Amino acid sequence: MIPFIDLKAQYRPIEDKIKSRINAVLEHGQFVMGPEVKELEKNLAEYVGVKHAIGCSSGTDALLLALMALNIGPGDEVIVPDFSFFATSEVVSLLGATPVFVDVDPKTYNMDIESMKAAITKDTKAIMPVSLYGQCADFDEINEIAVANALPVIEDGAQSFGGEYKGKKSCGLSTIGCTSFFPSKPLGAYGDGGAIFTNDDELASKMRELLNHGQSGRYVHTRIGINGRIDTMQAAILLEKLAIFPKEIELRQVVAKRYNDALSKKFKTPSVEEHNLSAWAQYTIEVEDRTNFQDEMKKLNVPTAVHYPGSLSSQPVYHGMYDVENEVTNSVASKVVSLPFYPYMDEETQNKVIEAVLSL
Ligand SMILES: *Cc1c(COP(=O)(O)O)cnc(C)c1O
Repeated sequence: MIPFIDLKAQYRPIEDKIKSRINAVLEHGQFVMGPEVKELEKNLAEYVGVKHAIGCSSGTDALLLALMALNIGPGDEVIVPDFSFFATSEVVSLLGATPVFVDVDPKTYNMDIESMKAAITKDTKAIMPVSLYGQCADFDEINEIAVANALPVIEDGAQSFGGEYKGKKSCGLSTIGCTSFFPSKPLGAYGDGGAIFTNDDELASKMRELLNHGQSGRYVHTRIGINGRIDTMQAAILLEKLAIFPKEIELRQVVAKRYNDALSKKFKTPSVEEHNLSAWAQYTIEVEDRTNFQDEMKKLNVPTAVHYPGSLSSQPVYHGMYDVENEVTNSVASKVVSLPFYPYMDEETQNKVIEAVLSL
């Protein structure tokens, strides 16, 4: 079986560096808020080109902390795309606020601008676009409408870290940017982790307090926060992974281009806007009979995955709560299928996937 993602192919060449980073943490013993966290935050801020990068426990907590910093709670509405990973709306619901599910664009799978505009009400408190599969949403359009309505914009950049919009890095495109370091994300740790990005000093210091039990100083709790810190060990690992990350983003373009060239005649392949550079968190195509496609691919020893099989608003937990029908979301959720993809995928393995797909 071909691996869906081969994390070992990345680990082998940096094994010694990772081990010596881990050893350094074992030796100094500052497992929480150790020096590697500060070092990582500095490097992340530089990479994205923003003033503040704040390490945290996961992509989900990054989104949660962003909403908490904006004082979002019961009675407030947050506009989210209906097509995403569940965390996007989960954090809104967790705070007692109301997710307002809008449709996506059939080409990019990102928030549809007209649907977003139509969803703004007097109770809207934030807009939370997702940069799905690695491609940034249309931030010029989104920001313009947000500014006109005095609304903050939170980018769910869990899949797009390393991606670019009009030459600017994902997570640095709006009021707050959030990303995930879940192992299979473009920049993955060896466990959970995430980061928050902003140019706003006030929001940054608020989020730093919130992720550490709302402490403004040791045992001085000025807010109700969470334990949302990133482990020093993960920060140490991420430092080495970030060092090779720009090269990996290039390798991802090469693999994606070969897939595109081979598959686009027969399938609806990813459509990346001229002004975007995708981080290729997933390589996702559309097929008509997905169940059959996945079964046949499995027989050919090629694993596939579905991101995502249904809309957020149709999840069982929301049953009877939201009366929404987002046509594009429902349609693409029934057709999308992701192929094996990772930056170190050799041509032989790519060819096996391509041959398998083209045989169907
Ligand atoms: C992975 C993901 C998250 C959550 O990140 P975790 O680090 O797993 O908590 C949020 N939003 C999207 C779009 C994701 O893909």
